[in-house]
Amino acid sequence: MRGAGEPLTVEPLALRGVARGEVAVDIKAVGVCHSDLHLVAGDWPVDEPLVGGHEASGIVTEVGDGVDDVQVGDHVVLSWFVACRRCRNCLSGKAWLCTNTNAVANRLPDGSTATTTLDDEPVWPFLGLGAFAERVVVPAAAAVVVPDELPFEIGALIGCSVTTGIGAVTSTAKVPYGASAVVFGCGGIGQSIILGLQLAGADPIIAIDLDPRRRAQAENLGATATLDGSDPNLVATVQEMTEGGADYVFEAIGRTSTIEQCPPMLRAGGVAVLAGMTAIGARASIDPFDLADQGKSILGCNYGSSVPAVDFPRIARLYLSGRLPLDALIGRTRPLGEVNTALEDLRAATGLRTVLIP
Ligand SMILES: [Zn+2]
Ligand SMILES: [Zn+2]
Repeated sequence: MRGAGEPLTVEPLALRGVARGEVAVDIKAVGVCHSDLHLVAGDWPVDEPLVGGHEASGIVTEVGDGVDDVQVGDHVVLSWFVACRRCRNCLSGKAWLCTNTNAVANRLPDGSTATTTLDDEPVWPFLGLGAFAERVVVPAAAAVVVPDELPFEIGALIGCSVTTGIGAVTSTAKVPYGASAVVFGCGGIGQSIILGLQLAGADPIIAIDLDPRRRAQAENLGATATLDGSDPNLVATVQEMTEGGADYVFEAIGRTSTIEQCPPMLRAGGVAVLAGMTAIGARASIDPFDLADQGKSILGCNYGSSVPAVDFPRIARLYLSGRLPLDALIGRTRPLGEVNTALEDLRAATGLRTVLIP
């Protein structure tokens, strides 16, 4: 990425070898996530040039000194939020809230990058990974070992959207069985939220999307009812279907107009979970009296409140045992060179996940 709003370019770059505590990973599959769209649209200012991509799996090809829990040949899913393991949140077991990570500044933990142009100019790795690439060098903590039999495309999705969506249900909101739930937006994260609600035993599961194909996919994944997002009486319809309001509403788009509709859809004591990412600086309006009077809550959800080293293998095992039909999330695969077309697939907001194969 050489400029916001411009197409990505595919070009040869120089990648240094591994340093202490690092591993090199050959990328075998990388999903195209909504955060990549935010990135190329310029919603989140970044240093350029930069390599996008953060939802990836691959095989370890090299390990640095001091790495003992990952070996050459291991199949890994990459985590885009490498925690410091030293800050108060990390020490409290809340790695997803690390206040000390350089990943969100698109840097390796020491503030550097392993990649340069052929003219020796630094090229920054998106979320510390920069996985729209044939190979990456990342901290060993970013490479979570998964079973060899896990398909790479599935592993890639576990690296972001699946873990975010399932974690939003099971870790952030801790939805109990029988709870009523609404899912706003049926893209990659919304679809994974529906799978998480299925796992948790939520009922009903009401999915909302503008696109009829996305609504059909949502039903296929386990939504018990779907609503057209353009319905002007959406809030009243949800209240009627849930006999007074839903226990949980998940916003998986990151749009302020839908965020504003979440609290009114809740019953007293209900919980809205914001799992979609808005542009930085966006503002949404809420009715604070309704929130206080009705004891409603709004929870923020980053990366599904997950601990990747625990959650990636756990989700992989649920898939391999047939309890999580993650195959249903994969749309088409494309070669890495078609990354701009893959971003268009996502912008159209009609299909399933496009996965790039380097
Ligand atoms: Zn993502
Ligand atoms: Zn930390």
